[in-house]
Amino acid sequence: MNIWGLLRNLIPYVRPYRWLVAVTIVLTFVSSLMAQVNAVVLDRAVDAINALIQAPSFTWGQAARILIAISAILLGKEVVSAVVTFLQRYFGERMHILVSRDLSLAVVDRILSFRMAFFNTGDNETGRLQSRIDRGVMSLSNTVDNFFIEILPLFTSAILALALMFAANVYVGLVALCIVPLYFYVTYIQARYMKGGRRQVFENHQRVSQGILNILESISVIKSFNREAIEGERQRHLQQDMTDQQMSIRRQRYLFNGLKTFLEQIGTVLIIILTAYLVLIDYPGMSIGKIMYHVMLFSNVSAPIRQLHRIYDDMNDALIYAEGFFGILKADHEVEESGKYKPESIQGELEMRDVDFTYPNGTQALHKVSLQIRPGKITALVGLSGAGKSTIVNLLDKFYQPQSGSITLDGHELSEWDTQWMREHIGLVLQKNHIFSGSIEENIRYGNPQATHEDVVLAAKKAYIYDQIMQLPDGFQSQALQLSGGQQQRVAIARMFIKNPPIIFLDEPTASLDAIATEQIKASIDAIKQGRTVIIISHNIGQIIDADQLYVLEQGRVVQSGTPEEVYRQGGLYKEIFDASARSMNADKIAETLQSS
Ligand code: ADP
Repeated sequence: MNIWGLLRNLIPYVRPYRWLVAVTIVLTFVSSLMAQVNAVVLDRAVDAINALIQAPSFTWGQAARILIAISAILLGKEVVSAVVTFLQRYFGERMHILVSRDLSLAVVDRILSFRMAFFNTGDNETGRLQSRIDRGVMSLSNTVDNFFIEILPLFTSAILALALMFAANVYVGLVALCIVPLYFYVTYIQARYMKGGRRQVFENHQRVSQGILNILESISVIKSFNREAIEGERQRHLQQDMTDQQMSIRRQRYLFNGLKTFLEQIGTVLIIILTAYLVLIDYPGMSIGKIMYHVMLFSNVSAPIRQLHRIYDDMNDALIYAEGFFGILKADHEVEESGKYKPESIQGELEMRDVDFTYPNGTQALHKVSLQIRPGKITALVGLSGAGKSTIVNLLDKFYQPQSGSITLDGHELSEWDTQWMREHIGLVLQKNHIFSGSIEENIRYGNPQATHEDVVLAAKKAYIYDQIMQLPDGFQSQALQLSGGQQQRVAIARMFIKNPPIIFLDEPTASLDAIATEQIKASIDAIKQGRTVIIISHNIGQIIDADQLYVLEQGRVVQSGTPEEVYRQGGLYKEIFDASARSMNADKIAETLQSS
């Protein structure tokens, strides 16, 4: 993306604040005029004082009048300048804040509309996406800020000063104009020389903070393996790299800054020599005051050039981040598709026919999968890890589209369904459910924002979590994140009760929970299953044998199907899993123990 592309993309976000832009521009012009006042006053003052000294009729009264006039003008100008600068910065900053808010809102709306596949491609992992958004918003709103608070005022003032120099004397104006490209050239060389340096420092910063984060996250592993010294050493290396780099960048920056100051001084000396020469030869319109006048104006001309390098760096950053950021805003092809079909009621009959599916990273997860999920029945998906069970659930919830084959709900292709309407009627309970930071009540109500407190209580009771919630000091207002894994799982199930969907997908809802929690969750799940279409994925044989229908998957293919008893009798993978499960539980010994008690 080039600078014009960047501005073109930014304009729609600045357009709503036209009046702010207009006011800022007017204020900028006024403050640029103010910046030239010192030069004009000094010019007049020097000439007036000079004339007074040489006049035979010198009186202190005349001198006092001149000094009072100078003081009044200069102080008055400072007051006006202070007000104008304040307003200019205030409005500029206001625009920065508003544009930054609008950019953030736009990107959040956009991301919420994307299909799941978007979040699964390499470039869009959570961390990367977050930093693309953060840095994009920051550097784009900085661009707005830079433009209105730095670039526009500085350059307006420089152009005005140059125009005044030309107006006073064409030769002096020409000399000033010729020196400017030299500064640009030095800045260009500096930018080329230091190219990437800033970015490397930025990346090193990220690496260092990521390193600290890693230490904090794995502190127990580090300690239990006694790896403190190794971790410390790794950090030292990172820090050393960053320090060396920062030093080298600082060195280069100060060298170039020195060079630029030197060039600026040469410019000033040239202006002094030329103006002094013109005064000496008595060139029309030139006086001693004009020497000061031109020197001061020249310092206004060179002021933005001192900032040029920083502005250049910021712009370069903005160009890089803008690409990633606007890439998100313009990714129309990533927006989730939706059909129009929106029936009054949903039966819950799902069917997959010859479905092939490959994830965006190229992993083919399903091969010619066909299965039928009967309404009001419980269907279990069984198979080893990675067999494709969760992928089936992802496809049935329309998170992804299959490459080939068809998926229907109540006889209509999923693509015909209104996506939101369909999901309104599907409940999803995962192995690890997302519990938001907030109260238990808020987390349960997420299933139905219109629900009353009584509905929330009822849902908690159905999910067998009510008594435990009531034992907490703050009851339903307690932080949900402080609950144990098993309790959080039941909060998620309560959320499902309150949503009350006719179709429910349970993806390993009791994995990694202890036996008591598993039993309690089984009770809540048994309660929620009543009269609904349920698809359950589980490694827990106890949950699978309750199913009406079973599909066994192996490497993305359905290898067996039928009732649990039928499939067991067929032998094969399901029998292997079932027997291994019974052996691992030591079922014989358990039976003996139960009998003997
Ligand atoms: P299961 O639920 O049976 O354990 P999954 O459906 O999760 O299996 O995975 C099936 C295959 O798809 C596996 O090979 C897995 O590595 C792959 N897979 C799952 N999720 C993704 C994803 N988001 N991106 C890429 N590949 C995936």
